[in-house]
Amino acid sequence: MKIDLDLHPLDNKLENKNWPILIAGPCSAESEEQVMATAKELATIGKVSSFRAGIWKPRTRPGAFEGVGKIGLPWLQQVKKETGMSLSTEVASVEHVEACLKHDIDVLWIGARSTVNPFVVQAIADAVKGTDITILIKNPVNPDLPLWVGAFERFNKAGITKLGAIHRGFSPFKKTVFRNSPEWSIALELKRLCPNLPIICDPSHITGKRDLISFMSQKALDLDMDGLMIETHINPDKAWSDSEQQVTPRHLNDIILNLILRQPTLSDENLQTQLDKFRAEIDQLDEDIVQKLSARMEVARKIGLYKKNNHIKIFQKSRWENVLEGRVALGKAMGLSEDFMRTYLMQIHQESIKNQTEIMSEQKFDD
Ligand code: PEP
Ligand code: MN
Repeated sequence: MKIDLDLHPLDNKLENKNWPILIAGPCSAESEEQVMATAKELATIGKVSSFRAGIWKPRTRPGAFEGVGKIGLPWLQQVKKETGMSLSTEVASVEHVEACLKHDIDVLWIGARSTVNPFVVQAIADAVKGTDITILIKNPVNPDLPLWVGAFERFNKAGITKLGAIHRGFSPFKKTVFRNSPEWSIALELKRLCPNLPIICDPSHITGKRDLISFMSQKALDLDMDGLMIETHINPDKAWSDSEQQVTPRHLNDIILNLILRQPTLSDENLQTQLDKFRAEIDQLDEDIVQKLSARMEVARKIGLYKKNNHIKIFQKSRWENVLEGRVALGKAMGLSEDFMRTYLMQIHQESIKNQTEIMSEQKFDD
């Protein structure tokens, strides 16, 4: 299935010549001096297509710095006047949209905490109806792809065709090394569903740590993301929000210079033939795995029937523990990570239990 969005290219407000989209600037606009100093250094890099700065900041707890508000919008206009960079900021209400439209902001983005709320998304979509504005939509904080897709559809229905996605990671269930878990499978599925929708990666909010931005940016480009949004501050350690993840313009320049832009496909035919051979091997292995999985599920169903006929419970804790630990150890001995093995076995187990529950209750469950 594909999602049918009516999309137009993002044009020079976001697109670079010969380089992916690059949006950079501070997490928050703090003062005219901070905004201008950051912007002037960024302009010298030459690859920044749009200058970002948060004017209204969604903060987890009250009392934190919540943005300078609309007094910051003329500072952004000054950036455009002096550097020529287009302007991007986050909007979360109709009032924000109206203020931005009055101040010549080129690109509005919907923050992760707003994408989760269809009322907010709809209100903003209605407020930009009839304009030619570019809208970027960050993924919702929860890993819900239909909710993200729904937000694009709402803007498209309002006649907005210059749309892009921002992948900024998802609130983690457990603490991880990253501030927000990337869950690449969701971003890649969005790419598959909406092939013409540009996706920009925000390694700053994914990693939460400036030392990991370079690694995450390279990964994003290798996974065919169309651009990057990187929080950049003239003095990151003194930033009023997201201090740990911001980089200086000079650091941003180093990150960019070290990024490798790989080709989507190989131009040399011999190299392509070798790649095709490897891929044929993978295809065959995947086919074998699917057949084995299907056979395994068939046995799980037979066990389900056996349990039903003999009146025993579906779940037996010690058996599951033995299966899990035994397979994890086997996988580790064969070079597969513990994390991967656990996730894989939990999924299989969940599906087996679902099948056995259906047999036990003689009812079918969709999920
Ligand atoms: C931001 O870009 O500064 C921001 C608040 O982003 P997010 O919505 O991803 O948290
Ligand atoms: Mn931020």
